[in-house]
Amino acid sequence: VSATAERFDFFYFVQQWPGSFCDTQRGCCFPDTGKPAAEFGIHGLWPNYVDCRGGGGGDDGGVISMVGRRGRCWPQFCDDGNELRPWEIRDLIKSLDQSWPTLACKGGRSFDFWSQEWMKHGTCSNLGQHEYFAASLALKAKHNLSAILAGAGIVPSDTETYFLSSIRDAIAEGTGAKANLECNRDADGESQLYQVYQCVDKAGKKLIDCPLSMNSKCRDRVKLPVF
Ligand code: 5GP
Ligand code: 5GP
Ligand code: 5GP
Repeated sequence: VSATAERFDFFYFVQQWPGSFCDTQRGCCFPDTGKPAAEFGIHGLWPNYVDCRGGGGGDDGGVISMVGRRGRCWPQFCDDGNELRPWEIRDLIKSLDQSWPTLACKGGRSFDFWSQEWMKHGTCSNLGQHEYFAASLALKAKHNLSAILAGAGIVPSDTETYFLSSIRDAIAEGTGAKANLECNRDADGESQLYQVYQCVDKAGKKLIDCPLSMNSKCRDRVKLPVF
């Protein structure tokens, strides 16, 4: 119920590598639209603060109440009454099915994933429903991460490992902005690239260098498993 604009500093635009979601101990399930393409898929567009005390100083009492006592660095669930309505995004469904497929074993409907991301993050974005999903699709279309990595010789492989720094550099060079990287472990405990966090201005349009670093759980050398 935010008649007023939500205050935050930047967006994380998060994409997941499906090979790394699926080859964990927990496994994955394909959506009802079939096996997704072997490319990065959208996880979400997440409003974020630069520091956990709130965004940007000044009169941000509202922001502080969103942060909470444990110092979460982002606002979430800003409007429980604002459910995602299918007809609002009807012209985007085909692209969303391709670019934002669900891989969780939860029923296989990607719409449920989009809906969850909208309620948790989208309602804090100051974007309308159509705008939020259109902005996400445009960000993904702007830079093809798997092509950028392939251009640097970083191709999916079940045996090869890559220097994390070479992945970092390839993305910075290929997109013009520094991103954050997150890793997980495959079933054998090997470190692999799981998600790329690109940073985006508050309008959801322009990539910026990430103003924060993360605890990325990555080793120095990581895999990019085949999907
Ligand atoms: P996890 O615990 O798997 O890292 O994150 C769980 C969920 O918390 C994510 O799917 C996302 O919704 C939210 N989350 C985790 N880290 C961040 C962050 O740095 N910024 C924002 N805005 N949300 C996050
Ligand atoms: P966050 O991680 O944004 O809190 O939300 C992740 C939620 O979306 C979880 O409840 C997870 O089960 C669900 N989800 C559905 N499909 C996917 C998927 O493909 N990847 C991830 N990371 N979460 C998914
Ligand atoms: P969700 O609450 O179900 O909150 O899921 C939290 C996290 O668990 C997700 O962000 C994702 O990393 C992981 N997750 C959820 N469902 C699945 C699944 O089916 N397979 C895998 N590998 N991870 C999942």
